[in-house]
Amino acid sequence: MRLGVHVSIAGGLLEAVARAKRLRCTTMQIFSRSPRGGRVLPLDPRIVQRFDQERRAAGIDPLAVHGPYILNLASPDTGLWTRFATLYAEEYRRATQLRAQYLVTHVGSHRGEGESAGIRRVAEAVSLALATRSDVIILLENTAGSGQGLGYQFEQLAQIRELVKGQERVGVCLDTAHLFAAGYAIHTADGLEQTLTAFDQVVGADQLKLIHLNDSKVPFQARVDRHWHIGEGQIGFEAFRRIVTHPRVRSLPLILETPKDTEAEDQRNLATVRRLAQSPDPENACHATN
Ligand SMILES: [Zn+2]
Ligand SMILES: [Zn+2]
Repeated sequence: MRLGVHVSIAGGLLEAVARAKRLRCTTMQIFSRSPRGGRVLPLDPRIVQRFDQERRAAGIDPLAVHGPYILNLASPDTGLWTRFATLYAEEYRRATQLRAQYLVTHVGSHRGEGESAGIRRVAEAVSLALATRSDVIILLENTAGSGQGLGYQFEQLAQIRELVKGQERVGVCLDTAHLFAAGYAIHTADGLEQTLTAFDQVVGADQLKLIHLNDSKVPFQARVDRHWHIGEGQIGFEAFRRIVTHPRVRSLPLILETPKDTEAEDQRNLATVRRLAQSPDPENACHATN
């Protein structure tokens, strides 16, 4: 199992890798810049090289970069969309410089223009970014489905991917809190299987590259995005035991984006996942003793 967290870059990239090492991460996610906007400094090649060396020496692989929240690649406003698409292409180049494997991407909100128009805009922005020669795979992240946001149904992610020029460099990141809030019943045994089967049919099994492992503070189908500590939210411990021991999920890198004021909270959530991943489910344990 490759397990890590979204690590803060406060203090710089080298501080980020030091945090990931302290947490015994075997994968990690970062922002390449402040996620809420502001001035973007160019990456220092010497720092990037040390970051890369230290990360690999610590066995932290893959690296995912999460795109900034401020971008709306589905924006119907042409001026805004052009700005966002330009920033996004720059983010793709930064992820390349950082030698990341993945750039996790929010597909954005159509702002009333309709889903199909929004989907075309996102696909165009992703295609523009992919004009840069790079090995970085763009991962479209599913959403909780609040407001006019796109990406809460597998069909939408598949449609975006279909329209992209360079789609061999596009995959999907599934966030468990978003799945649950959007109405995918991953909290039940049957629901988990049905969700994965639906994904395979609609998007394709090979396209699933990364899991964001988060519990949800809001109930099933709430269509609101509120991450919570693993097992302590509405998805719950038993469901997470099934999720993290599922052969499909186990084989993918898992990144926690659970709330934290201190590193201790990351430590606690990581410990929970490690414990659940090792404990057989109660039914199988019962058979084993008979
Ligand atoms: Zn995200
Ligand atoms: Zn996420």
